[in-house]
Amino acid sequence: MFKINDNYLKLPGSYLFSTIGKKVAAYTEAHPEKSIIRLGIGDVTQPLAPAIIDTLHSAVDEMANAETFHGYAPDLGYEFLRSAMAKHDYQARGCDISADEVFISDGAKCDSGNIQEIFSVDNKIAVCDPVYPVYVDTNVMAGRTGTYDAEKETWSDVIYMPCTAATNFAPELPKETPDIIYLCFPNNPTGSTITKSQLQEWVDYANKVGAVIIYDAAYEAYISEEDVPHSIYECEGARTCAIELRSFSKNAGFTGVRLGATIIPKDLKCEEVTLHSLWARRHGTKYNGAPYIVQKAGEAVYSEAGKAQLKEQIAYYMKNAKVIYEGLKNAGYTVSGGVNAPYIWLKTPEGMTSWDFFDYLLENANVVGTPGSGFGPSGEGYFRLTAFGSYKNTVAAIERITAL
Ligand code: PLP
Repeated sequence: MFKINDNYLKLPGSYLFSTIGKKVAAYTEAHPEKSIIRLGIGDVTQPLAPAIIDTLHSAVDEMANAETFHGYAPDLGYEFLRSAMAKHDYQARGCDISADEVFISDGAKCDSGNIQEIFSVDNKIAVCDPVYPVYVDTNVMAGRTGTYDAEKETWSDVIYMPCTAATNFAPELPKETPDIIYLCFPNNPTGSTITKSQLQEWVDYANKVGAVIIYDAAYEAYISEEDVPHSIYECEGARTCAIELRSFSKNAGFTGVRLGATIIPKDLKCEEVTLHSLWARRHGTKYNGAPYIVQKAGEAVYSEAGKAQLKEQIAYYMKNAKVIYEGLKNAGYTVSGGVNAPYIWLKTPEGMTSWDFFDYLLENANVVGTPGSGFGPSGEGYFRLTAFGSYKNTVAAIERITAL
């Protein structure tokens, strides 16, 4: 008889957004007349920018001719996109990253979930609390997290780094030494960031203890303040301790198109073995490359027209962020985030848990957000709203919430 990977059975409940989806579906079925505004899941709503659409069209046309048709893409990505990323995302910011250290993929969710495969199951992970759930869940599936304490909602073999109001929602260096540290800035869910000197402390710490940092920079494009690093490679010494994840979802609206990248510097080694060689082997074996047309669209993100159009798109979402932040603040809520990130993190009213507040908003304002506790125990008592809705819906949602 076959056996299953019973680590999957250890996963508590369903994926956060499935639970939210079910609750909203039940409410909509019972109240079909209500118009629901969704500021929950971090999905974008604006159409792809014209420069990207034009490139997609011409790439599709190329596929219609034998001379310009493209079959399997190179496993690690087309040179044109790897070079564009190395040049614009890294070298332009003074980061020493070359095109052959960029691995193109179909998104940061897959990469952040898959990257743990190249590490021993004995490694101990450290995560921020609250945290993007994929980091922990994929380590659970791999059998790296020990046993689950349902009451505390924590895993015995995971180091949790609480990110609370006391530290401006930034993690502190853990007391117990981890092997793999997941960091994400600008942060999902709290919308917080850390300064370059704070990130430098993490890089120095990782190099000192021999840990690797998996740095998720999916929201990098939303940074508006000067002293906030766009890449971990802005820090000295990051080439020997950090992997960076990039996504085209939030900077260019590719959530449904699918494109991302993982950066692994060749100096990042475990004894003599480079993580670069392991990830290249993994990609070569398990992945057949992101589609040509999508990678061409990715290249258009770095064109002059693409850059200008995407700057406007981000400004559009950040205008929503301001509406949410200021609207809630003026109504007496305690709010943070929303300045360098499309997420606003608010404290739930006295006496209400995150899920209480979720139900309260759904039923009384017909607005959907995300309960903070779904991201980890330190998220309890908080709630996340996203700036990814339309401006009209965002304004309406805040009017409804503040009228309660
Ligand atoms: N990383 C973080 C922190 C995210 O919040 C998300 C999506 O919400 C992703 C990665 C997923 O990115 P992608 O769409 O590229 O898979």
